[in-house]
Amino acid sequence: MFVNSHIASGYLAGKIAKDDSKWIVLWMVAATIQDIDGLWSDTVAGHHSILHTPIFWIAVCGIVWCIGNFRKIQGLEMGAMIVLAATMLHLFTDWITARTVGIQWFYPFSDTNYWVYPISPEKGNIPIWEMVVPPYINFYFENKILSYGEVGLNILALGWFGKTYLDNHEK
Ligand SMILES: [Zn+2]
Repeated sequence: MFVNSHIASGYLAGKIAKDDSKWIVLWMVAATIQDIDGLWSDTVAGHHSILHTPIFWIAVCGIVWCIGNFRKIQGLEMGAMIVLAATMLHLFTDWITARTVGIQWFYPFSDTNYWVYPISPEKGNIPIWEMVVPPYINFYFENKILSYGEVGLNILALGWFGKTYLDNHEK
């Protein structure tokens, strides 16, 4: 999934959870941050690091939640839960929209990559920035269900954002 779509899905999830706007910002960041591993990866197909595995985030969020619980810092507990949920959302959507690399749900216990639609890892042997130009972008949007879904997600998020903005600014 593209970065903008992860931001959009984080926004929508925060809205659906009826969270305050400061938490929605966290939803958006935490639903997107995993793709930072693209910065130190040579190829699209190779960009899934430990940040794209559930166990890493379960461990990190578990520790933060425990600190929050122990020290009675409610914001920390809430933040840890949102980050975990947003991370799972990222991995779940990457799993559904996998085109060149799947999700290792059971890493480090198993290296098996999981995906929904068949993937073509050889098409992902390109630098990350080439994702947004042909031929990769054409290949990415070949699957019409995924394409309409991803575009629709962005439109929905923009629409909801626009409506919220107008609601907040009318007298
Ligand atoms: Zn990702």
